[in-house]
Amino acid sequence: MRILVTGGAGFLGSHLCERLLKDGHEVVCLDNFFTGRKQNLAGLIGHPNFELVRHDVIDPFKYEVDQIYNLACPASPPHYQYNPIKTIKTSVMGAINCLGLAKRVDARVFQASTSEVYGDPQVHPQPESYWGHVNPIGVRSCYDEGKRCAETLFFDYHRENKVDIRVVRIFNTYGPRMHEADGRVVSNFIVQALRGEDITVYGEGLQTRSFCYVDDLIEGFIRLMGQTETVGPVNLGNPGEFTMMQLAELTLKLVGGKSRIVHKELPPDDPKQRRPDITIAKQVLGWEPKVPLEDGLQRTIAYFKGRL
Ligand code: NAD
Ligand code: UDP
Repeated sequence: MRILVTGGAGFLGSHLCERLLKDGHEVVCLDNFFTGRKQNLAGLIGHPNFELVRHDVIDPFKYEVDQIYNLACPASPPHYQYNPIKTIKTSVMGAINCLGLAKRVDARVFQASTSEVYGDPQVHPQPESYWGHVNPIGVRSCYDEGKRCAETLFFDYHRENKVDIRVVRIFNTYGPRMHEADGRVVSNFIVQALRGEDITVYGEGLQTRSFCYVDDLIEGFIRLMGQTETVGPVNLGNPGEFTMMQLAELTLKLVGGKSRIVHKELPPDDPKQRRPDITIAKQVLGWEPKVPLEDGLQRTIAYFKGRL
């Protein structure tokens, strides 16, 4: 197949492009390089089945493709809050442009949605049937509501125009090729520990997250796109749940060194707990994560050691 990946130069996108090429497909990667970088694709540039296009998803694009994966959107809170209006435009206009193209060329189209659609959840763990608890006017809303609107567009194009959609709700995922200045917790803690700097835990560090290793997640993407039983939304994430203090202590143990754990102010609207209910992914996709947190952290630490 010929497959378009928007946001393909980013952390997840670069792993997806690599996997699709390995599976024998042609890949067109479209990215505006806001948070992505060509280095992430260093092993792919020059591959006869790979094309890289600099383009912004808020402007229309046309390619003859069989499938579209829409990943374009900054994902870390500092990056998506840098220009919140642009973040909403990217989610909403990007979804409209992907869906319009999918309708025109009859392609299956995938949306990288997020556990943020559940906001600061009052149901725990979160099943897909939960509608969420989202602040519509806070500093995180540009991302959360942009992604919620994108999901709405996907389901309306599906109902109205029979567009063949797949929607995945991704829970915190980590691994090699995260940006070292990205601001997300796993990359922050590893980089701080490797540099011997203070490990910055926001608030008391009792808030929880569930961390999925990138290879597990990409396998879930491929399975969701390769089946016809469900269009989603399907949660993909690792149900292991950790407090940020536990993550800080584990990172310190694995990296070694002399860093101290310090506490900083908790950002507004920071969700207190998050863990995916992956019953649907297990039943329909036969998917569950295989890489335990400690193993995944070791691989990610090795990557950052190389970069720093
Ligand atoms: P990332 O920031 O590394 O990648 C995003 C990519 O999109 C970058 O290459 C960036 O340059 C590109 N991009 C941003 N705005 C664009 C625009 N207007 N036009 C074209 N390209 C644009 O983040 P990631 O972690 O790889 O996330 C990829 C997708 O997965 C995002 O949509 C994100 O919301 C979603 N997601 C990720 C996670 C996670 O834990 N990594 C969790 C939930 C959802
Ligand atoms: N966090 C932290 N220290 C950091 C970066 C993040 O304690 O240096 C916390 C953050 O407040 C949140 C959790 O780690 O509770 C996950 O943050 P991240 O930005 O990785 O993802 P998200 O909040 O979008 O799940």
